[in-house]
Amino acid sequence: MKPFTFHTPSGLSEAVSLLEQHGPDARVIAGGQTLLLAMKERLARPAALVSLAGLPGLRGWRYTDSGALEVGAATTYAALAGATDLAGWHAEIAAVAGDLADRPVRTMGTLGGALCAAEPRFDMLTLVVGLGAELVTVGPGGGRTIPASKFFDSAGGTVLRPDEILTTIRFPRRTAFSAVGFEKFRYRVFDAALVSACCALRLGDDGAVADARVVVGAVHPAPVLVPGVADGPLTDAAVTEIGRRAAAEVLPEELATTPLRRYQRELVGVLVARAIARAHDRAKDQSGS
Ligand SMILES: Cc1cc2nc3c(=O)[nH]c(=O)nc-3n(C[C@H](O)[C@H](O)[C@H](O)COP(=O)(O)OP(=O)(O)OC[C@H]3O[C@@H](n4cnc5c(N)ncnc54)[C@H](O)[C@@H]3O)c2cc1C
Repeated sequence: MKPFTFHTPSGLSEAVSLLEQHGPDARVIAGGQTLLLAMKERLARPAALVSLAGLPGLRGWRYTDSGALEVGAATTYAALAGATDLAGWHAEIAAVAGDLADRPVRTMGTLGGALCAAEPRFDMLTLVVGLGAELVTVGPGGGRTIPASKFFDSAGGTVLRPDEILTTIRFPRRTAFSAVGFEKFRYRVFDAALVSACCALRLGDDGAVADARVVVGAVHPAPVLVPGVADGPLTDAAVTEIGRRAAAEVLPEELATTPLRRYQRELVGVLVARAIARAHDRAKDQSGS
């Protein structure tokens, strides 16, 4: 491993200054679960590491006055998984955090670290785009609020600048959706997903689907939004058909040229249908219909 200096700023502005000072050779380190592996394998060779560990306000979560849920970027999966005060579909965020990787990774790994690492197979990429979250950053020029759907570059990576820090993940208030379904397929319980799918939907007063977002992850460098889900009643046949259309849209036959790609194509169809069915069932249960 190449030698590096390790910095422990006590405030965000100091952290940003350090990143500015060291330029592109500096990297933020949160839980180190992705970065340290990359450094060991010499895929990343930073000259300076700027730790988020001592920064106040980057851990935990809170509800804003408007009901949005703000999660600090350095909140670990383990902390999030243990959240007992997240109600309604917000609880699905905790459930996803509690069902990935293994205990050591969940204990150290952070939500913000996973998003900034932007590895497409990480569950939280699919979830934040699926839920229409906003990502709040701070840098030398001030702060930015970036919709999750614009945070991940379709060629890989993120739109984050090297001297910018992700501070907060802001999820919409509970009334934005009636229910959420998240599905993934992995070979072993601690493996990252081969395909993941998230469906967030809202039922209207008449009990019909008024709005739905479906997002597929792990297939392309950035999560893909699948259009046209709320176009009719969600019968079993319609849900299967939406899954089939999603598979064709996300991974057209001409791109599914290897056995892995063909398998992922099948999985997209199945997991999208399951995520929609799960969200729909939960929404109906909640509305009592
Ligand atoms: C064995 C193993 C199994 C795993 N399985 C899964 C799985 O099943 N599902 C899944 O979703 N994930 C899985 N992961 C990935 C895990 O989610 C990530 O490794 C972890 O969340 C990254 O967070 P971190 O805090 O450790 O980030 P770090 O490793 O500290 O940082 C990762 C990257 O993000 C940057 N960064 C971190 N925080 C910030 C910030 N706030 N602002 C700007 N840049 C930042 C760093 O500079 C670095 O480039 C697995 C990882 C391992 C090692």
